[in-house]
Amino acid sequence: MRRTLKCKIRLSPEDKQKALDCMRVYSSCCNELMNIAIKNRLFTRYKLHYLAYHNIRKKYNLSSQLVVTAMWKVIETLRSRYKNHSKTVPEFGIYSSVRLNYPRNFSIKWSEISFSIINGRVKTIVVGAYDKLRDEFLNGLWQITESHISYDKHKDIFYFNLGLKRETPQLRIIKNPIGIDLGIKRIAVTSTNNFFSNKRALYLKHKYDYLRSKLQQCGTKSAKRHLKKLAKRIRNFQKTVNHQISKQIVEHVKSIPESGIVFENLKNIRTNGSQFRKKQRKDQFRWSFRELQTFVAYKAEGTGVSVKYINPRGTSHQCSQCGSTNVTREGFEFTCHDCSYQLDADLNAARNIASRYISDAKAVCQPANRIGSYTS
Ligand SMILES: [Zn+2]
Repeated sequence: MRRTLKCKIRLSPEDKQKALDCMRVYSSCCNELMNIAIKNRLFTRYKLHYLAYHNIRKKYNLSSQLVVTAMWKVIETLRSRYKNHSKTVPEFGIYSSVRLNYPRNFSIKWSEISFSIINGRVKTIVVGAYDKLRDEFLNGLWQITESHISYDKHKDIFYFNLGLKRETPQLRIIKNPIGIDLGIKRIAVTSTNNFFSNKRALYLKHKYDYLRSKLQQCGTKSAKRHLKKLAKRIRNFQKTVNHQISKQIVEHVKSIPESGIVFENLKNIRTNGSQFRKKQRKDQFRWSFRELQTFVAYKAEGTGVSVKYINPRGTSHQCSQCGSTNVTREGFEFTCHDCSYQLDADLNAARNIASRYISDAKAVCQPANRIGSYTS
């Protein structure tokens, strides 16, 4: 597994100028390499190197090492572009990050970092980094790998994004799946009776909807700007909430032996008539559900907790006790008419998610039977 330790660094005015100059030259070099690679349909560094290295080296005032890392960067960008089926030609902005390979381009002796860019070497000190990962790194849990220097022009801050890697811990086998239902009012409910509310984010969202309806009527530039700002604030707020909740979920599941996390797979939610209106409303929140799932998967990776996904069909319209679909759901109340079971509706869904994982796993574990009955 890989992580990036984002280190804030402080540069002297002279070094700052050096770094900015380097970024500018580096990004135009990357853009030229990108065009060469696309034009000649090159997907490996070796081919790109063979074709372009000498000309690029002559043309740009970059060390051979930086030309080499620019090729890595271009090929990696190209590959991810094809992986995502993107048709646009990637273009690097003038403050695009500079890739540095380890140990050729930089050395680190906490908290001093020394790296070579245009016109010589720069020595700097880390003035801020994320505590937990930093401590793990200092305790020798991580190996250093390729890193990047980036610049936030709005804040006028340079970052040294220290690339780290280590072996992914072995995943626990799930004997005790914990289902997690995601919802609008309660962002997450676990099958083990944990409820996570989303009140504050919802309040902001309502405020936004109200303001939007007002501001859209006047349609001025400042109104649009105001809306954009507000939308960004909501996104950031939801992001913080998702970080906190995902951390709690992973810690909770980790503490239960032989457990794992089961989510609904949100990629292929189907639309059917009666649920359509509800789905539309859920759509507005889909990005935040996906974000929460991504954060959980990211945080779980280092702990050995696996994250699995099941088909979400009907999980909220089935009794988790007897499996009947003769049920009613009113608000948070769920009632089964066959076995008279009553439960919180989201909790019922979370329990269905957990038990669906078990039944799916069983179905996968019995291929021999199926083949047997098919051939006979
Ligand atoms: Zn029932």
